[in-house]
Amino acid sequence: MITPLGWLERVPTYKEKQQELKDRDLSTYGFLGYPLLQTADIIIYRAKYVPVGIDQVPHLEISREVARRFNYLYKEVFPEPEALLTEFPKVVGIDGRKMSKSYDNAIYLSDSPEIVEQKLRTMMTDPARKRRSDKGNPELSPVFQLHKIFSTKEEQDEVEEGCRTAGIGCIDCKKILIKNIFKVLEPIWKKRSELIGNPERLREISEKGTDKARKVAEETMRIVREAMGLI
Ligand code: SF4
Repeated sequence: MITPLGWLERVPTYKEKQQELKDRDLSTYGFLGYPLLQTADIIIYRAKYVPVGIDQVPHLEISREVARRFNYLYKEVFPEPEALLTEFPKVVGIDGRKMSKSYDNAIYLSDSPEIVEQKLRTMMTDPARKRRSDKGNPELSPVFQLHKIFSTKEEQDEVEEGCRTAGIGCIDCKKILIKNIFKVLEPIWKKRSELIGNPERLREISEKGTDKARKVAEETMRIVREAMGLI
């Protein structure tokens, strides 16, 4: 009600997706209104910070605008949520584009070790390295972008030097990455399989979280109705 259509139409990812996914019908409110749905999910808890990737920052901008507009029209109810970025605010997908479900280029926490290994083994490299003896530029390789997140400084230096001089092959380079990503994912896979084997515990966690969230949401809605003069 308080969000002009133009605000939604100018969200950069909306325009980008329209360009990129030309074969899909994106002229639906479900797609256009998605950032508004996200806004509702954020501001209903009166969140001050939202942990997001860099690509979500424009979406968050609209949440800030909606919060600001409501506060201006009615009463100071919503904090303007700020992005909480990590040291690595962007993770590339296996094809070098941003990691996204729509591009089917993501590594999921639910992927099995075999699938993760397969995805990493076939991951895009610097196209200049067609043969083992071709020298490459690691900065043009998404594999190296993941090394920057998951590998030690020494390993990064080794890979960088090896790539530029053709001293290391892409398969060996990826093996180092696979080893390091597995180190991070193994405890997650373990925890996940424990939880999947214990549906009772899962239900308990979900109900506890739902109760906690519902209390905050109900209180927000009470404040909102009051601010709008509806009660
Ligand atoms: S050696 Fe590694 S960083 Fe260089 S192109 Fe091959 S996979 Fe990419």
